[in-house]
Order: sequence, then structure tokens, then C-alpha cells
Amino acid sequence: MSFIRTVLGDIPPQQLGVCYAHEHIIIDPSYTTERYPDFCIDSVQNAVSELTDFFRVGGRAMIDSMPCDCGRNVLKLAEISQCTGVHIVCPTGIHLKKYYPEGHWSSRLSVEKLADLFIADIEQGIDKFDYGGPVCERTKHRAGVLKIASGLNYVNDFERRIFEAAAKAHLQTGAPILTHTEQGTAALQQVEILQKHGVQPRHVVLSHTDRKVDLKYHQKILATGVNVEYDSAFRWKADQGNPTLDLIMSIASEGRLGQVMLGMDAARRSYWKSYGGHPGLTYLLQDFSDTLRSAGLQESDLETIFLSNPRRVYAFSNPSESHTLREL
Ligand SMILES: [Zn+2]
Repeated sequence: MSFIRTVLGDIPPQQLGVCYAHEHIIIDPSYTTERYPDFCIDSVQNAVSELTDFFRVGGRAMIDSMPCDCGRNVLKLAEISQCTGVHIVCPTGIHLKKYYPEGHWSSRLSVEKLADLFIADIEQGIDKFDYGGPVCERTKHRAGVLKIASGLNYVNDFERRIFEAAAKAHLQTGAPILTHTEQGTAALQQVEILQKHGVQPRHVVLSHTDRKVDLKYHQKILATGVNVEYDSAFRWKADQGNPTLDLIMSIASEGRLGQVMLGMDAARRSYWKSYGGHPGLTYLLQDFSDTLRSAGLQESDLETIFLSNPRRVYAFSNPSESHTLREL
């Protein structure tokens, strides 16, 4: 039986509910927040307040996207989930190189060792110290998704190793893969690399691809069978219109909404109401859902985006099935 691995335990996919597909619920003080102070979203209280609002408007689940040792805090995520009733999936994996200090273990370890660390997060429990070293004390909260990233225009050597390690961890555990694309670029290369290492695109979600406004590019991405997550709906400037909306409507007209999910990716306090920012985490279920309805989407389309896609895509695949396919 398939399942979704949340910080509070495994649940049947049908229990996930309305889900935001790429979030940042906690980013603790870290090298990342030293470089980008607005990224510091470390308050459990503020998260509880914001996720309570999200629950009130029908939200039931969020996929957190902060991987190992760059501000992740699984104990805080578990506490927030417990207080709000929102299912939270916590990732393992490695982010862009710029979020780690020079000489970090992510640059030094072999692909095998990296995969072992990811697998232990998924199967045993996330380290209380978040792999900050030198000791490791595993909590009972396990990772439910592999988060990896590539930079602008191409996947570099550092990122390739992380992709390969994530593919190994996926094949062994069945955990789904969530990627960061920089401004939507290198999406096809990401899929190619993962496929080369035995991953089926249907278990992969590419984030932020709506940053690149080019319908043909999106058609090519979806033709691979991969899933995408859009989160720029509230980011476009007034004179840019809303290319995210246009893209969704084009894809809907082609009958491909079954591969599209939405998220806020609100990794800045200036996006959270509880930190005094805007538009707040209810935006997609309120303002933007209304916009989508006015543009012509049906309730069933919204259900596809927020409900049936996430529960299918973020469910663990059967690892032995992946192995068999890889060997063919
Ligand atoms: Zn993100």
C-alpha cells in the first residue's frame, strides 16, 4: 500500500487533503539566513498562526522544501503540525551550493555517502542537529521527499552529484523527488539526468517553472511525464500581467492539469501575514482560486491541482518496482 510520509507519521494518500506543493514553514538561523536575512522564518508561533488561517480556508497539507543543514528544523515542523492539524512533509536532500559555507560536507562526500545520509533521514529519522555535526541524534520524525536544486540555465557538477544521490535514495526508498529550478531553467536537463539514473518522471516535481514564460517550453516539460509546481502567481509586477494564470489556462485547455500543482514558496518573512508581510499563506486558496474560477476553471480543476495531484505525486512509489524498471 502506498503512503505519504509526514513528520508525524505515514498516512494513506487519500487522507492528505488540500495541499500546497512547495512551502517554507520554518527556516532557522543558519548560513542561509546570514546571507539572506529576510529568509529567516523561525517562529513556531507565527507559523501556527499562519497555518491555522490556512486550515480555516480549507488547507490541510504542505510540502516543506528546506533540505539538510540550511535552516531545516524537523522538531519545529512536528510541533506546528501537531498544533494546527496541517499535515507537513519534511524533505531531505541538498539545496543550491550558495546556501552552504565553503567546504561543506555536501561538496566533499561521495555520491554513495550522500545517498546514505538521505536514506537514513527517510527511513530512520531526521537528525536533531540537522546534519550540522559532529554528532547525530535521530528523531522519530522522518523525511518524506527528496529536495534537490540546480542553478541558472544548466545543472553544474556539484548539482549533478546531488541529483545522482537523490536518484539512488529514491530507488531505494520510493520517496518522491522535488526540485528547484532557477527561474524555471534547466528543467529538461533535470528530467534527463534523473531518468538516466533510473527515476521515472511521474515521481518528480519541478518547482518554479512558471518563471519562464514560454508555452512551448512548458509543453516539452509536460511531455516528459514530469509534474510541475507553480508559485509565481503573486510575484509578477503589475505591468507584467499574470503569466502564471495564462500558463495554467493554456495547460487546462490542453487537458494537462493532471501534472500541475501550486505552492507559495513563501521563503521570506515579507510574504507572511504573521510577520507583518503580504499576501499571506491563504492567498492561493482565496484570491488566486477566485481568479482561476473567473478565468474559467471548474471546481474539479481546482481539485485536480490542490488535491488529486499532490496525493498521487507525493506518495511513495514501490522501490522494487523502480529497481525492476531500471534494470530493463
Ligand atoms: Zn523554495
